[in-house]
Amino acid sequence: MPGSSLENQFQSPHSENRWLRQKLLELTEEARLSEETFKRCHEREIALLGAEDLPQLLKALTSGLQHSFRLEAISLVLPDPNHELRHLLTISGSSRDLGNNLFFVDRLTDFSPAYANLQNTRLGPFLGAEHRRLFPGRDLICSIAMLPMIRRNQLVGVLNLGSQNPTRFTRHHATDFLDRLASIGAVCLENATNREHMVISGLTDALTGMHNRRYLQKRLNEEVARSRRYGHPLSCLFIDADHFKRVNDLHGHSAGDLVLQEISLRICDCLRVSDVATRFGGEEFALLLPQTDSEEAFKIAERIRLRIAKDPVTLNQGTKLQITASIGISELSKGDLEDPGKALLDDADVALYAAKRLGRNRTVRPNRSAD
Ligand code: GH3
Ligand code: MG
Ligand code: MG
Repeated sequence: MPGSSLENQFQSPHSENRWLRQKLLELTEEARLSEETFKRCHEREIALLGAEDLPQLLKALTSGLQHSFRLEAISLVLPDPNHELRHLLTISGSSRDLGNNLFFVDRLTDFSPAYANLQNTRLGPFLGAEHRRLFPGRDLICSIAMLPMIRRNQLVGVLNLGSQNPTRFTRHHATDFLDRLASIGAVCLENATNREHMVISGLTDALTGMHNRRYLQKRLNEEVARSRRYGHPLSCLFIDADHFKRVNDLHGHSAGDLVLQEISLRICDCLRVSDVATRFGGEEFALLLPQTDSEEAFKIAERIRLRIAKDPVTLNQGTKLQITASIGISELSKGDLEDPGKALLDDADVALYAAKRLGRNRTVRPNRSAD
C-alpha cells in the first residue's frame, strides 16, 4: 500500500511496534472500562426490576445509582403536573424519606431548558448557568450525563448524573448502556405507579374516599415506631355516629350513605395534613393524631363533635337530619407493652363505649395517665 498514511507515519518497525502496543493497551483498557460499566448497569437494572414499591424504586434510581456509579451528584426530575406521584407517596407515608435529589415538576422544561428536545442520553461538560439547578448544593461538578426516561414516546423523567471528573462524561463516550438503563427505569416507574394505585385502592374506602382499616393498621405500626423513636405523643380518636341504625331504618340505606359521606367530610375539615383519618368500618371512624397528647386530642375531638352536630345534613329529598357522634380518646402508653398499637386502639374503643354509656354526643378522655 504505497503512500498509506500508517506506513508514512512510522520511521521504523520499532516505532510502529511501540505504537501498536500502546494502541492495544488503550483498547484493552477501554474494553475493561466498558465491561465494568456493563456490569454496574446490569446490577442496577436488577435493582430497578427488583424494587418492591414506588419509594424503593425512586431510591434505587437516585441514591442507589449514585452509590453504584460512584457519582458526586445525581438527581431525578419527574413531571407530575397532577401531583399524582406525590399523592401516591404521601398516601404510602414515604414522602418524607426520599432524600433531596428527587424533584417533581409541572413541566420538565420549566425545571431546565436543557431538557427541551431531550431524546437521547446527552453527555458533556457541566455548564454552570444551564445546569446548576440539576444538582442543587453540589459544587465542582465538571461533567454530566442527562438520561431521558422515555415510555410510549413520552418523556416521563430525566436522570442527571454529575461527576467531578471532566472526562467521565464526554461526547465521545458511547451511551448504549445508559440509554438502556433509562429505558428500564421508565418501564419500572410505570409499573411501580400502577402497582401503587392498586395497593392504594385496597387501602381506600369506596364510599367516603377515606383510608380504610387496613391502611390504619399499616400506619399505626409506623406512627407508633416514630412516636417511640422521637419521644413524641400519639393520640387516637374513635368516632361513632349515634343511633345511626335509625337513619337507615327511617330514611333508607342511601340516605345513610350520604350521611356517612358528610360525616367523613366534616371530620377531615377539622384535621391537619399529618393526621391519619380512616373509616374503621360501618359508622365508625378511627383517627391517629401524631405529635398530639390527649389534652390536645380532646380539643380536636370536641371541634369534630361540634362540627358534626352543628348543621343538619340535607338529604336528597330536602329532609334535614340532625346527626351527632360520640368520641373516645386514647394516648399511646410510654410503658413497656407487648403491642402498644393495639392497646392504643383498645383504649380509644373503651373510651368510646363510655361516651355511649354516658348518653352519646360527647367526648371521653382516657382515665389513666399515658404511662
Ligand atoms: P349507637 O349510638 O350505639 O352507635 O347506635 P347505632 O345505631 O349507631 O349502632 P349500631 O351498631 O346498632 O348500628 C350501626 C348501623 O350502621 C347498622 C348498619 O346497618 C349501619 N351501617 C354500617 N355500614 C353502613 C353503610 O356503609 N351504609 C349505611 N347506610 N349504613 C351502614
Ligand atoms: Mg353508632
Ligand atoms: Mg358502631
